[in-house]
Amino acid sequence: MAEPSVTSSNPVRDVCDYELLFDCVHCGLCAEACPTYIVTRCEMDSPRGRIYLMKSLAEGRIELADDAARHLDLCLGCRGCETACPSGVHYGRLIEGARAFVEQEHRRGLVDRVKRGAVSAIFPYPNRLQTLLAPLKLVECLGLRSALRAVMPRTIRDWLDLLPPLEPGSRPLASGTTIAPRADASTVVVHHGCVTQVVANSENLNTERLLAAAGYRVVQIEPTSCCGALDLHSGNAARAGNFARTNVRALKNSGADAIVSAASGCSVAIAEYGELLKDEPEFSEDARAVSSRVRDLSALLLDAPANPKREFRCRVTYHDACHLAHGLGVREAPRKLLASIPGVEIVEMPESDLCCGSAGSYNLTEPAMARELARRKADNIVATNAEYVVLANPGCEFQIAAELRRRGSKIKVVHLADFLAIASQ
Ligand code: SF4
Ligand code: SF4
Repeated sequence: MAEPSVTSSNPVRDVCDYELLFDCVHCGLCAEACPTYIVTRCEMDSPRGRIYLMKSLAEGRIELADDAARHLDLCLGCRGCETACPSGVHYGRLIEGARAFVEQEHRRGLVDRVKRGAVSAIFPYPNRLQTLLAPLKLVECLGLRSALRAVMPRTIRDWLDLLPPLEPGSRPLASGTTIAPRADASTVVVHHGCVTQVVANSENLNTERLLAAAGYRVVQIEPTSCCGALDLHSGNAARAGNFARTNVRALKNSGADAIVSAASGCSVAIAEYGELLKDEPEFSEDARAVSSRVRDLSALLLDAPANPKREFRCRVTYHDACHLAHGLGVREAPRKLLASIPGVEIVEMPESDLCCGSAGSYNLTEPAMARELARRKADNIVATNAEYVVLANPGCEFQIAAELRRRGSKIKVVHLADFLAIASQ
């Protein structure tokens, strides 16, 4: 595709927050931080190229043809470009707007529509996902998962490969020991997410147990609603807003001083409720207050009044989940926490903050690019000779573990909360 000219004019279409596009000075310093550009070497798959596209679409200088939609769809939303950008471009907000525009204005192929429809109809609703996975759990308990996989069509097989083991007892749980919180202890609530509570609930439970063991007062909200990130990433802003309102009410009513999620994508979504609901007088103030209370598990544990640790000898490498590193800027605290466990040796992997290809539901809808990035991530992990890859997002765990399983690797991929539970036993 020829690059559109950059002469400015007035927007004729509501593609994204048009004014934000002008923060980009087209320096290109973000390109080498962009996973899709690294793979394709195509300007239109770089942040700068996509910003050109959004501006050209907004100004009516190009139409939303299939190739323009493809370049936007291929963006992972990882926000590696935001970290790299010296001009402070809010790329995440731009691409969320553009996704909603593509969703409204572009008709996708049938297979794509079915895949996206399935993700949208099932994943944000824990009960539906639980029901869908119940027969698979049984198949797994009977030891027949490989046999089932063999008779499935390619797309279903690829999705099955991303699922972690489902049988009971396959995930570690920290002992329930807690210390009585001091009278002035901070109150923390753990947002259980949607997919996480069905397929990786140990990460929620361990997060709560570790916080309680460290002296925090842990409170619960019931039931937890999807944070809306899946919808924001797929252009369904209206439903994301509904989820956000439900969560703002519940999180406010919890009275918690700190809000934690085992999924970094959910943490960022909640941290941005203030922006998402800023034009709704009924919610804007509460949404801002809720967003300001989002905290990272590792930072809370490092600050904890009690933080007991036993020796655990092993070699660990740490993968930076995109939304934790690029969305919340959390990089040092998880490494510091791991390093504080006697016996843990941390070895850095190259490109630790380059997206693994998981990116919410991206690995389900864009499997080719997702697989390419998973291979690159696995190469970097294997080169460290680590026994554990620790990370703070269940989606990254499933994606990286699937790639390492394909290679027959024995490296264990473990969420930070689960790793701390293992290390404390
Ligand atoms: S969000 Fe990630 S994939 Fe998308 S343009 Fe930025 S760096 Fe590239
Ligand atoms: S997004 Fe930032 S780093 Fe990338 S081209 Fe624009 S100004 Fe430069």
